[in-house]
Amino acid sequence: MEQYIVSARKYRPSDFRSVIGQNSLTTTLKNAIINRKLAHAYLFCGPRGVGKTTCARIFAKTINCTNLTESGEACNACESCVSFNEQRSLNIFEMDAASNNSVDDIRELVKQVMVPPQIGKYRVYIIDEVHMLSTPAFNAFLKTLEEPPEYAIFILATTEKHKILPTIISRCQVYDFNRIQLADTVDYLQFVAEQEHIAAQREALEVIAQKADGAMRDALSIFDQIVSYCGKEIKYKAVIDILNVLDYEYYLRLVDCFLQGDVVESLLILDDIINKGFDVQSFVSGLSSHIRDLLVSQNEKSVGLLQVSASVKERYLQQAKQCSPIFLFRALDLCVQCELNYKVSKNKRLLVELTMIKICQLITSEAEKKNDSRQKIRKIDTDDTAPTPPPTIPQTARKDVTATPQPQTKPPHDILSGSKAGLLNLSSIMSGQADKATNVVNTKQPDTPRANEVDFTEDDLRKQWLEYAETVNENPFFYKYITEISPKKEGNNCVITVVNEHQIQEFSDKCPQIEDFLSQRLGRDIKLVVNKREVEISASLSPDDIFNKMKAQNKHLQDFADKVGLRVDYSQ
Ligand SMILES: [Zn+2]
Repeated sequence: MEQYIVSARKYRPSDFRSVIGQNSLTTTLKNAIINRKLAHAYLFCGPRGVGKTTCARIFAKTINCTNLTESGEACNACESCVSFNEQRSLNIFEMDAASNNSVDDIRELVKQVMVPPQIGKYRVYIIDEVHMLSTPAFNAFLKTLEEPPEYAIFILATTEKHKILPTIISRCQVYDFNRIQLADTVDYLQFVAEQEHIAAQREALEVIAQKADGAMRDALSIFDQIVSYCGKEIKYKAVIDILNVLDYEYYLRLVDCFLQGDVVESLLILDDIINKGFDVQSFVSGLSSHIRDLLVSQNEKSVGLLQVSASVKERYLQQAKQCSPIFLFRALDLCVQCELNYKVSKNKRLLVELTMIKICQLITSEAEKKNDSRQKIRKIDTDDTAPTPPPTIPQTARKDVTATPQPQTKPPHDILSGSKAGLLNLSSIMSGQADKATNVVNTKQPDTPRANEVDFTEDDLRKQWLEYAETVNENPFFYKYITEISPKKEGNNCVITVVNEHQIQEFSDKCPQIEDFLSQRLGRDIKLVVNKREVEISASLSPDDIFNKMKAQNKHLQDFADKVGLRVDYSQ
């Protein structure tokens, strides 16, 4: 059986020419070698997997080559080159500072540096992840770096340049490696596929390149993984399944729904995505990226930032034409807020649903403003918080976009535009009873949306509860309390259960504010009822809480603890 060699090793570049995506940098290095203007220390900076170590190795091989080609590349044939290629050259010394970061490790290295090369001119010392060296180790190294022997060349590599001491940087020639462009990665994967006689769809390779995020090593290892599943044929569909990547079709469909203000369909699409087992958080960040892609597609200058294949690009451009920049910017803002709140939210799905509802409302509020220019009241609170559009979108682009047909008339959900104060009757939207709810509002109290007769559900209450949380998010503790509590509806009471005195205090302080907010949002006089739960001793109690509870049950415990010197153990 043919032995399978991992592509990242098999296709590791053997000369500067075959290094992908770092052209100007490799040219500079080659010129330095041709002109014999070598520095004693180099600092290679850049993200992981972009070729820093590879370039360091090629550099070491090239400066020791006895038969350099005209273009300054290693010949790969002389004794020195062969020993490098067979990884038995003594003129290269590699150290990973992530695991060897002590003073002793550096002293060992300094000893090595004193030994001159037996064959060849230079010994090259590559120190990977150099930012991981301890400060004493750095200091121990500084002397050698300042006055190295003639034959010694240091190549320091780091992913975190800002952590390198200025004294080190000033002694090195600094090279900044680029993140590899998507198209370059895809081209190279295409090349590897051809060499391996694998038929690969370009869209499929794009997904791999996107997942690798600018790191060629990752791209090749994902490629290997895909080959082991798919064999000699790599298709887009199979790749998104294996990598669990959400098809861009979903995002295109969702934005179409947003543009229609179609809350119901948006939520159904989300449900479909969740049922397919996709992670909700990655979905939200995917949606943010999609909206960002639409935003850059709106302008000729920024469209180059869109990294998708030609066939998909056309779809993006079309959808971008239908969106106004202000809509995209606000939708992006809502998505980013959702991502920020995701970790602290207890009901994550609800948070995402709420975000999508808000995005659907954006179009409604835009249409409302157009239709009803006399009413200059800001209707939906997202208007107040939404930042101004980015200055990078020029006026011309905006004009183009607004000239394209927008939903001029009322969107499908009349209930949204029918509510005068921008109040969203969620229960009616969710249950599809838009007409009924509109009737109630219009016939009973046409001018005030606070129609006392409109009942609300527990779901409505919980949604508004989380909405309220957003108004206090500058107070992280209280915000956390609110988002962790799921209120119950008992008549017009909002009943919550808290677990400690501090929460009781917080909620009593904020009680009027909360009641006002909920009453206004739900169209009823809502009373907040706070219950304290008698909790069992559980992991959520602090060691102090547990001890206090035990003391309450047995008053001799404290005496006993004092006598034998017991202390609360905080290590758990
Ligand atoms: Zn050679």
